[in-house]
Amino acid sequence: MKNYDVAVIGGGIIGCSIAYHLAKEKLDVAVFESGQVGGKATSAAAGMLGAHSECDDLEVFYPFARNSQLAYQKLQEELVDVCGIDIQLKSGGIYKLAFSEGEKSQLSSLLDLPTVEWHGSAQVLKNETAVNEHINGAAYIRDDIHVLPGLACRAFSKSAQLMGASIFEYTPVLNVQKADSSYFVKTAGGNIGAKYVVIANGVWSSTFFEALGLSHRVIPVKGECLSVSNESISLKHTLFHNHNYIVPRSNGTLVIGATMIENEWDERPTLGGIEELIAAAKELIPAAGDMRIESFWAGLRPSTFDQQPFIGFHPEEKGILFATGHFRNGILLAPGTGQMIRDLILEREVRNDWIDAFKIDRQKQVLV
Ligand SMILES: Cc1cc2nc3c(=O)[nH]c(=O)nc-3n(C[C@H](O)[C@H](O)[C@H](O)COP(=O)(O)OP(=O)(O)OC[C@H]3O[C@@H](n4cnc5c(N)ncnc54)[C@H](O)[C@@H]3O)c2cc1C
Repeated sequence: MKNYDVAVIGGGIIGCSIAYHLAKEKLDVAVFESGQVGGKATSAAAGMLGAHSECDDLEVFYPFARNSQLAYQKLQEELVDVCGIDIQLKSGGIYKLAFSEGEKSQLSSLLDLPTVEWHGSAQVLKNETAVNEHINGAAYIRDDIHVLPGLACRAFSKSAQLMGASIFEYTPVLNVQKADSSYFVKTAGGNIGAKYVVIANGVWSSTFFEALGLSHRVIPVKGECLSVSNESISLKHTLFHNHNYIVPRSNGTLVIGATMIENEWDERPTLGGIEELIAAAKELIPAAGDMRIESFWAGLRPSTFDQQPFIGFHPEEKGILFATGHFRNGILLAPGTGQMIRDLILEREVRNDWIDAFKIDRQKQVLV
């Protein structure tokens, strides 16, 4: 039986980033993926790195997300050097739109950040001529750029492989058992041993929680997206309003996202979902109805009870780690999660507030 230092369950962007960060430290890593690397939530994502636009908690979550966002700048070149894949980090930033004074005031804490500035309606309309002229203005977040998520995942897995990691596609993990000082991992392709096991299989992680004596759940939140094009409508910035967005891709297409349907396991897009996206897009760009549909898809976001990820050790089993529940931000948080799992395994320093915020046995906050 082959023994690895670390077995990673799940070859989405989280599992692949972890494999990359560990292989770089010369650990012997294996990733087991049920289907194709990056084939689930990862390839459904729009790819926004929304450290500012997605984070309400500026104390703990924002610094973690921001660190991960900044890590992409360095990773972009590093991954090209190692494996030749360009993750298509695209600048331009996000316009978080406000249609009223009330919506503008909801952006006030975001506008306090040094990297965010207010653009009035005239300035927004000058920069983005297709936008609804009834806007009040927008928070301009220049650092919330985006990547192509499928390519980013592939770049992590390919680079990890070139650094010695083993990636097993179409090889689901069936169960994990303790075996003396290591773990016995039963997969559809045979059994292996591992000193550490990282549970990183997104929305499907709950089955392992149960088997490992934990009652927490990862909850599916289905999201649908549309890709559209029209030569006469182009955008320089991502537009964001009420959790809806339009992301301009490098090839000229626009990604309109995304619906949010809790507790839904069906991965097929629905007509109702597409209708909702078209209505949201028309609110941001009135001429959106003239755009041609290129494709549409859906994916399951892995959410948790407090919408923060589970990253860290099992409370009793010190060789089992979790890296799951990244909800709307798994692409953004992939480098930061890879770094944190690496540092926990190598016993390097990790910020205590991150350990506490993301540990699997944290308590629900009770509002008084
Ligand atoms: C419509 C939509 C838009 C999004 N937009 C963004 C965005 O703009 N920015 C952002 O940061 N995030 C975004 N997200 C969220 C992001 O996609 C997820 O948070 C992220 O992909 C989670 O990555 P993951 O690796 O944990 O999960 P996944 O990508 O789902 O990977 C988990 C993998 O585990 C595998 N697996 C399952 N069970 C087993 C098993 N027993 N053994 C082996 N393998 C197994 C699965 O096949 C899967 O490939 C979006 C999500 C959706 C659905």
